[in-house]
Amino acid sequence: MANAFYDFTGELRQLEQDNLYRRRRVVDGPQGFMLNVDGRQLINFCSNDYLGLANHPEVAAAFKSGVDRYGVGSGSSHLICGHSGAHHALEEELAAFTGRERALLFSTGYMANLGVISALLGRSDTVLEDRLNHASLLDGGLLSRARFQRYRHADIEDLQAKLSNAAGKALVVSDGVFSMDGDLAPLPAMVELTERHHTGLLIDDAHGFGVLGKNGGGVVEHFGLTQDDVPILIGTLGKAFGTFGAFAAGSEDLIEMLIQKARSYVFTTALPAAVAEATRASLRLLQTESWRREQLQNLVRRFRQGAQQQGLQLMDSFTAIQPVLIGDSGQTLAASRRLSEHGFWVSAIRPPTVPAGSARLRITFSANHTESQVDALLDALAKVLP
Ligand code: PMP
Repeated sequence: MANAFYDFTGELRQLEQDNLYRRRRVVDGPQGFMLNVDGRQLINFCSNDYLGLANHPEVAAAFKSGVDRYGVGSGSSHLICGHSGAHHALEEELAAFTGRERALLFSTGYMANLGVISALLGRSDTVLEDRLNHASLLDGGLLSRARFQRYRHADIEDLQAKLSNAAGKALVVSDGVFSMDGDLAPLPAMVELTERHHTGLLIDDAHGFGVLGKNGGGVVEHFGLTQDDVPILIGTLGKAFGTFGAFAAGSEDLIEMLIQKARSYVFTTALPAAVAEATRASLRLLQTESWRREQLQNLVRRFRQGAQQQGLQLMDSFTAIQPVLIGDSGQTLAASRRLSEHGFWVSAIRPPTVPAGSARLRITFSANHTESQVDALLDALAKVLP
C-alpha cells in the first residue's frame, strides 16, 4: 500500500498554483557581473557580492595558498582539532576591525544567529524581534524558547511598549540593513531604548557590514555609533566579503560564553581554513579599496534617479538592495522571466520570504557593475513592467 507520508504532490501543486514554487538555475563559472546560466550569459543583478570580491584574484590566490597550507577540510569542530591558525588570525583581525575585544567565527550566518540567540536566552526570558527580521534571527528566537515577541517594522514606539512588558532578561534583535527591503534599523533610538531598559541588543549587519560607513564598518559606523552601543554584532562573510561564513563580535566574556554554549558553534565542523585565509584577503581589500563602496553608492544613486523618473515603486533604501515592489507573486515572476529574456538576472522575491501581497523584484548592485549596465537594466525594466 502506498505510504501517504511520502505523497507530496498536493502540496507541491498548490505552491505551483500560487506562484510560490521555487526553482534553482545552474550557474557555470565564477560569480561576477556576468553569469553563465543554462548556457546563456546574463547580467547579474541578484547576488550579495556587493563589493565584487567573490572572484577577486587576491582573494582566490589566498584561498589557493590556504589549501596548500591547511588542506581542504578542517577535520572537526573548532573545539576538537579544527581551529587553525588561519581561523584564529581572522578572528583577531575581525575583532580589531570592529573595535571589539573578540570575534568568533561561525560556519554560516544562519548558524551564528541560531547559536547566539539560543545561547543567551532561556525559557523565562523574552526576545523582541522586528517583524521583518531575517528567518535565521526569527528561528534563533524560537529555538531559545524565550517568550517570542515581534514588533512592527522599525517601530520604536511599538518596541518600547513591548519592552515595558518583557519578562526575565530581554534581548532586542534586528537586522541592521533589512535583507528584502534594503532599509535600515533605527539604530540610534534602539541603542538609547535598550540602554534605558537595561536589555540586550543584537544587530545582524549581514547586508551593511563592509558596505556602509566610510571604512565599511556597517550600520554602526553609518550612524556614528561605537562598539559599546551595539554589544552583540553579527556579520556574515558570504556577502560583501565575497567568501563564506559569519562571525559574532563583542566582549571577551560574551565570546567565551558563546564558545561554551552556542550549540551551532560547538556541534559543527569548522569552516575550511582556506576560506578563512580568503576572508583575510577580502578584509584587507575592503579596507584599502574604499572606491568599491563609492562606486556602489554611485550606481545605486543612478539607478534610483532613473527608476523614480520611470515611476517605479522603490523602497526607502539607499543601500545595495533596491527592491521594486510589484505585489502580486505571478506578476513578479513574469517580470523576472521577461528580464531574463532581455539578458538580466533579477530575482522574484515572494512570500513567505516577504509578507503576503508584497512580492518584489530584488535588485542588488555590486561595485563591479558599470553605469551602462545600470542604464540597460532601467531600459529593460521600462519594457517588462506594466
Ligand atoms: N542574516 C541575514 C540578515 C541574511 O540576509 C542572511 C542570508 N541571506 C543571513 C543572516 C544568513 O547568512 P548565511 O548566508 O551566511 O547563512
